[in-house]
Amino acid sequence: MTTGMNFDFIIAGGGIAGVSLADALAPRARVCLLESEPQLGYHSTARSAALFAPAYGSRLFRCFSRASTAFLHKPDDECFPATVLSPRGALHIARGDQLQRLDAEVADIRASGIGIETLSFEQARALVPVLRETYVAGSALESEVHDIDVDGLFQGFLRRARRSGVHVLSGTGEEAFARRDGLWQVSASAQAVAAPVLIVAAGAWSDQLGQRLGARPLGLQVLRRSAAIVDAPAGVEVGAWPAVFDVEDEFYFKPDAGRLLISPADEEPVAPGDAYTDEISIATAVERIQAAADLEVTRVRREWAGLRTFAADRNPVIGYDGEVEGLFFSVAQGGYGIQTAPAYAQTAAALALGEPVPEPLLSEGVTAEVLSPQRLRTR
Ligand SMILES: Cc1cc2nc3c(=O)[nH]c(=O)nc-3n(C[C@H](O)[C@H](O)[C@H](O)COP(=O)(O)OP(=O)(O)OC[C@H]3O[C@@H](n4cnc5c(N)ncnc54)[C@H](O)[C@@H]3O)c2cc1C
Repeated sequence: MTTGMNFDFIIAGGGIAGVSLADALAPRARVCLLESEPQLGYHSTARSAALFAPAYGSRLFRCFSRASTAFLHKPDDECFPATVLSPRGALHIARGDQLQRLDAEVADIRASGIGIETLSFEQARALVPVLRETYVAGSALESEVHDIDVDGLFQGFLRRARRSGVHVLSGTGEEAFARRDGLWQVSASAQAVAAPVLIVAAGAWSDQLGQRLGARPLGLQVLRRSAAIVDAPAGVEVGAWPAVFDVEDEFYFKPDAGRLLISPADEEPVAPGDAYTDEISIATAVERIQAAADLEVTRVRREWAGLRTFAADRNPVIGYDGEVEGLFFSVAQGGYGIQTAPAYAQTAAALALGEPVPEPLLSEGVTAEVLSPQRLRTR
């Protein structure tokens, strides 16, 4: 082992949560980023649907999405593409028995200040010509939904973090951790690194890792979601379609490079690991989508699954453990970790440095207390 290197923060987890946080801390602190896998961003970050949907998730997650919007539209730094967003729109559709649900959703989205407009069936079919009149009884178009260039965003955070001096160690496997003399001492990839604060940003593995570091579990729920890329109907140009969401979250589909990305919007509780889909999940997506749309799926090009990790209250978890010295969490990004990464990282950096929650989140009532891991511990 080589001699140790000292840092202010060690971050465990090289997905978008860890990399964006390393980037946010780097101008003000010495940061070491650890990733178990040889390749950064290999797990959930590489497996998303790449959507920015500002109305998606709890009130708190909507605040984080809103606070991330300006950055995503214009990152304004040479490390990033000029923008990582491109317009997509989302069409929420409902069967006859789901109309009340659609009304409630439209009212809820409007109340949070996000634009959504109800459409006639003809208007909906003008956008997505395969929709079945026998299925779609109501629909509404949310226009602020965008596609995200996830790789451009992720590599941008990574490039800028490296430019600011972040020390990146990947392929670390299971590190050895010890707390001595007010420092976390970590052996990883034949290197010894030390820092007073260790930040867990390890996605689905965060509770496991926290326990190895002496923390009580936060009760994070790891839920698998499947997706696939299928051929578009022959001769149909799908590129301009909005994403289409079932109002009760039973499926969605969206254009993806001339084909369609489909998902059953499943939430299967699983143990942390390299997630794989199963035939049933993709078959379920195909069946539900074919009921709603005249879309014969002839060929599945690629299928995958990824892990979405939630707190029991489905809200963000950012803050010091409170019981184990020098242990901080930035976890539970759920199904919104890409679109909220800029604000999540800035908030985690502020709290890790002992500062208040940054604006505009603070003015919206997002406090350190509501984000704290300690709220999840009932005894
Ligand atoms: C099908 C699907 C669709 C989605 N669609 C969207 C979407 O449209 N928009 C959106 O915003 N979000 C979406 N999400 C959610 C988004 O992908 C996640 O919220 C986000 O990627 C979480 O990032 P992360 O860095 O926390 O997790 P990960 O990317 O999983 O990173 C955690 C990393 O920690 C590493 N790690 C674990 N233990 C250790 C250790 N001891 N030391 C070092 N490293 C460790 C792991 O190897 C892993 O690389 C989707 C997710 C799925 C599965």
